[in-house]
Amino acid sequence: MPTEKCTSCKAPLSEPGWTKFECPKCREVIYRCHKCRHQSVPYECKCGFQGP
Ligand SMILES: [Zn+2]
Ligand SMILES: [Zn+2]
Repeated sequence: MPTEKCTSCKAPLSEPGWTKFECPKCREVIYRCHKCRHQSVPYECKCGFQGP
């Protein structure tokens, strides 16, 4: 099982409840951990795209 990291806080996605989706701009896969989803922490893709 790959150890992906949260795009926002860089925490390993060891706990369930995380999500992943494509960046609407560059299609890079973005990961968000349970905590960042819950707290609506903004993310920033490596292409510079920012979103909630
Ligand atoms: Zn996170
Ligand atoms: Zn992007």
